[in-house]
Amino acid sequence: MRFFDAHNHVQAFGSEAALAAAMSAAAAAGVEAMVCCGTSPTDWNQVIAVSLKYKSVIPFFGLHPWYIKEGAPGWLESLGSLLTRFPAGVGEIGLDGGRNAVGALRQETAFVEQLQLAKKLGRPAAVHCVKAWGRLLELVRLVKPCPFMLHSYGGPAEMVPELASLGAYFSFSGALLDPKRDKLRRALLAVPLERLLLETESPEADAPGWRGGPAGITEVAAAAAALLGRPAEEVAELSYNNGREFSGEIALSHYNHD
Ligand SMILES: [Zn+2]
Repeated sequence: MRFFDAHNHVQAFGSEAALAAAMSAAAAAGVEAMVCCGTSPTDWNQVIAVSLKYKSVIPFFGLHPWYIKEGAPGWLESLGSLLTRFPAGVGEIGLDGGRNAVGALRQETAFVEQLQLAKKLGRPAAVHCVKAWGRLLELVRLVKPCPFMLHSYGGPAEMVPELASLGAYFSFSGALLDPKRDKLRRALLAVPLERLLLETESPEADAPGWRGGPAGITEVAAAAAALLGRPAEEVAELSYNNGREFSGEIALSHYNHD
């Protein structure tokens, strides 16, 4: 089996040794590619470093809604020039109604500017959304970006069809294993199979008993497969192919070719 980890932050492992151990466990588990997202100008260089060191890492650069304050004047221009120098996606960007230190307008402005930049450069975007689903839908309708993925999708199942028609991929994490997250499991069942992605969000652990590291994608795939009533091999391959489709040309140099 081969796997695509559609969202993580492996640049944030505490040490080189921890990162190396996680990456070799991932390679041994069959993780062939992963989307590694920066969160603010302060970690973009680390994302570049891991993507140069590990061929499986597809870099994404963005200003995360939690870190808008770290976007010093000129950050958007820096992001633009970084994206012209590296085959990379845009992310992690988004809206967070539950953790908003700068006010809705500034958060939305940064999100829209980055989505527009992704569209202008023809890059995929990795999007975070918490407690802002109605507004997200309005902004996506307005910008009509390139393919974008809603990481750790937590919106309602009812919104899936329209978001999919606007180009969304839907990514699910180890939170599928959380007994309290029934809404998440309902949403998973509503996602068109050609738009399904799986992720670890490592090194974070977002479910009880979850182990950090991209190798954990095997457990996410097993959980998703059980919920979908399909063989794990099929779900792993499907989400791998969807990951390739989502990341498009920027991923070409990051796969282990057979
Ligand atoms: Zn993230």
